[in-house]
Amino acid sequence: MAHPATLLALSGQGLDGTFNSIVPPIYQSSIFRFEDVGVTKGYDYTRSGNPTRDTLETLLGDLEGGAGAVATTSGMAAVSTVLATLDADAHVICSHDCYGGTERLLVTLAAQGKLSVSFVDLTDASAFAEALRPNTRLAWVETPSNPLLRLVDLNALSVLTRAAGVTLAVDNTLLSPLQQRSFDLGADLVVYSTTKYLNGHSDVVGGAIIARTEALLESIRFTANAFGTIAQPFDCWLVLRGLKTLPVRLQQHEANALAVARFLAGHPAVAEVYYPGLETHPGHELALRQQRGFGGLLSFRLRAGAEAVPDVLRATTVFTLAESLGGVESLIEQPATMSHASMRPEQRAEAGITDDLIRVSIGIEHIGDLLGDLAQALAHALPEAATATEDAVLTLT
Ligand SMILES: *Cc1c(COP(=O)(O)O)cnc(C)c1O
Repeated sequence: MAHPATLLALSGQGLDGTFNSIVPPIYQSSIFRFEDVGVTKGYDYTRSGNPTRDTLETLLGDLEGGAGAVATTSGMAAVSTVLATLDADAHVICSHDCYGGTERLLVTLAAQGKLSVSFVDLTDASAFAEALRPNTRLAWVETPSNPLLRLVDLNALSVLTRAAGVTLAVDNTLLSPLQQRSFDLGADLVVYSTTKYLNGHSDVVGGAIIARTEALLESIRFTANAFGTIAQPFDCWLVLRGLKTLPVRLQQHEANALAVARFLAGHPAVAEVYYPGLETHPGHELALRQQRGFGGLLSFRLRAGAEAVPDVLRATTVFTLAESLGGVESLIEQPATMSHASMRPEQRAEAGITDDLIRVSIGIEHIGDLLGDLAQALAHALPEAATATEDAVLTLT
């Protein structure tokens, strides 16, 4: 197969046999005419199948290296679809610092008696063995995690899940198939919110599930069709367009993120920086082994504490105050009150998501503008740091 960059740039060509359009058509049609009674051209109803969605699913399956993919209407629809494949009374072991929406869904389903769930710190793989029960069916892992960028050793964990007959699902939204080869590391299912890096332009909410085996793929396909969690043609078309530039976008996200992480690490107003690309990050060695790149998301704590956070968030002009991540524009937010507000307070505390934490999603703008903006925003909260940060910006740009 061609290099992923080539695969992505050329994707979707060949779908239009009528006019040979280079860009794949959007088959924005809910229904397809039958050729004869019982005879179709492969499609009858868009919930069950659509050529534009198929194009995206084929590309995602090829990119990840699995048996195939299912594109869903959101990242949470992808999570819901995986959970809906579980039998009654299944037990799920989930990363304790998973996405807030995933935590909320698991807690809700547990309260409804549909499953049971244990949230554990999987940075130590032995925590999985301790949480394991006879009815454990699924392990749900996010690595790196959001917002604290903790890493889970997928090779080590997958040895345990395989031995226990537990399906290992990896939510790889913070990276991409180009940066983390989850199936090679032992995953059975890989899940994405395509809202983030895969689409990358902050104009779609979407998701995807890629399955390692045909049997898992069939089960996911059946469930997505039965529950109606499938993605719409126009959204698939936008994700296909976004994916074409994924490799070049990632290069810029990562180069910028590393520069921002180094700048923050040397800044007097900053107490701690969480980014796996920094040598001081506890997951740095594992990231070098397990990932190809460090991603574009990072978080940091202010020395001045939680009270100074609103001042910094209000002061940025290049960074936009908004949730989400993975788009071309840089975003800044407070996880405790924004992206992770849906998480139960006790779970937030357990995961270390306190009010002094700021998360930034680094976009593809010019690095000088990003550092300058952070410098002036941090100076706003801590005026005595202004001179030091201006010097730091000068040396880094
Ligand atoms: C955003 C996100 C989700 C949910 O995706 P939506 O597209 O917002 O439904 C799930 N997991 C992770 C890690 C995310 O960042």
